[in-house]
Amino acid sequence: ATYNVRAEPVSGTTVSGVLVSFEDVSDMERAGQMRRDFVANVSHELKTPLTALLGFIETLRGAARDDPAARERFLDIMEREAERMNRLVSDLLSLSRVESAERQRPTDPVDVVELVDSTLSSLRTLAEAKGVRFETQREDESELLVPGDVDQLRQVLINLVENAIKYGGEAGRVTVRLSFRSREPAFKGPAVEIVVQDYGDGIDPVHIPRLTERFYRVDNHRSREMGGTGLGLAIAKHIVNRHRGRFRIDSEPGEGARFSVLLPAYS
Ligand code: ADP
Repeated sequence: ATYNVRAEPVSGTTVSGVLVSFEDVSDMERAGQMRRDFVANVSHELKTPLTALLGFIETLRGAARDDPAARERFLDIMEREAERMNRLVSDLLSLSRVESAERQRPTDPVDVVELVDSTLSSLRTLAEAKGVRFETQREDESELLVPGDVDQLRQVLINLVENAIKYGGEAGRVTVRLSFRSREPAFKGPAVEIVVQDYGDGIDPVHIPRLTERFYRVDNHRSREMGGTGLGLAIAKHIVNRHRGRFRIDSEPGEGARFSVLLPAYS
């Protein structure tokens, strides 16, 4: 720990005592360091596509000027790079919105069964393009209601299912399991659990504690190839925190990955 130590005379001109105060500044230092790392990361993430864009603009003005085929190819790459920047900025905005609202717990009634069905429908085209089919499992057909923010919970599901398709899609299926617990000790009350499971390569457990950090990726190259921003799990975790829920990741290499979201439910 690092301390700021201050010594002040307790009374005016005649010193009758000295008040020594210790202030632990290691948390502040850590926060400052995290902020600096974050700014450095964001700058780097934005600079990479920008540099590519500037390079291609120059090539289009010069060497590729009279080569229509090359021009088309370069414009495609430029579009991809611009889309990457767009995704990154959108994710940064989502993250900052969620973080600034983290103290206010959302309270709208959210029907989790409906949420899962509609989200999977919206992702079906993407899944089919990668040869992935969705399986849903639930104990019974009863309604599962939680207090929440439906758009944010949809964002969590989208991030987890998109990751399952991106990183585990080669196995051809992704499972979403829903269950109700009448008494979850962590909440001293009822809970709904949503589990997104894939059957891909899985994740080495050494990485798991860090996956929800901003920009942490197991394989930088692969994540970028897949169009990832490195913020999806950080956003998911903040949203779950805002709902006073629990976010858990389990995996063994070769065994696929399992992401579980546990949300307090209405009693
Ligand atoms: P990204 O935009 O890179 O996908 P995320 O925050 O969503 O960022 O995920 C962080 C990292 O966690 C990914 O780069 C990937 O290495 C790993 N990861 C996430 N989901 C899975 C999964 N289902 N299987 C294997 N690895 C995963």
